Amino acid sequence: MNDSLRKSALVTGSTSGIGLGIARALARSGVNVMLHGLGDPAVNEELRRSLEAETGVTVRLHDADVARSDEVARLVADTEAAFGAIDILVNNAGIQYVAAVEAFPPERWDAIQDIVLNASFHAIRAALPGMKRRRAGRIINLASAHGLVGSPFKSAYVAAKHGVLGLTKSVALEVATLNITCNAVCPGYVRTPLVEGQIAAQAEAHGLPPERVLREVMLVAQPTQRLIEVEEVAALVVYLCGDAARSITGAAIPIDGGWTAR
Ligand code: NAD
Repeated sequence: MNDSLRKSALVTGSTSGIGLGIARALARSGVNVMLHGLGDPAVNEELRRSLEAETGVTVRLHDADVARSDEVARLVADTEAAFGAIDILVNNAGIQYVAAVEAFPPERWDAIQDIVLNASFHAIRAALPGMKRRRAGRIINLASAHGLVGSPFKSAYVAAKHGVLGLTKSVALEVATLNITCNAVCPGYVRTPLVEGQIAAQAEAHGLPPERVLREVMLVAQPTQRLIEVEEVAALVVYLCGDAARSITGAAIPIDGGWTAR
């Protein structure tokens, strides 16, 4: 296909975990992808190169720090310059921190709001004018089961993810007649480096081996009793990007093994 006819996607936080799975699935479906995230530049460049070689689409790499609004604006502008358009925006970059409210370091609270909620706002704000001009677009925000229900010791994350759902609804309503959809995907526990880190932290906190933490602490909330795989979340995102999903907007879609059915 002529590269200028391809759709293009910006997936934030796509050098690891769910974002990488989404970037891979979009690239495999023929979409040019801006891979983005922190980490070892040489490792990320190898990810970029191998994804491009495997799929034949154009894959670029960006390392903007989305905790800063000016960096988010630069990321969006560079992606539009690289591909001519952002047809699909996936706000996925995220971090976690676990502590009781009164022991929660204010700078960790701020970082979570900046990276999870504020960065989504800044990216949508910057990408929407192009989508509106083209009267087409797909915005998918990676929220969480923690966007729908709370858990102790995750106040910053739960607050930010609930905020993401509010942002999703408002944006969806503003652009509903313009062939632009905005939805939130709400996973339960997915097997990624972020969750592996939580298992290790909880193992230390509870003085338990990691397998018992997984079974007796984390998967207690998830009725299917297994971690969700990255590919399952990626397939849902690809579906939301297609024409068949044009009437789904403003939705918060759980993919949580029954967590929020309780
Ligand atoms: P991960 O730690 O594997 O990947 C996070 C990505 O975000 C990485 O690419 C990292 O470089 C990037 N990132 C983090 N801070 C950044 C910053 N300041 N600037 C630029 N990039 C930054 O995480 P994951 O588990 O794949 O989670 C991805 C998203 O899915 C997050 O929003 C997370 O909250 C959400 N989520 C994850 C789970 C889960 O169980 N893993 C469940 C529900 C929701």
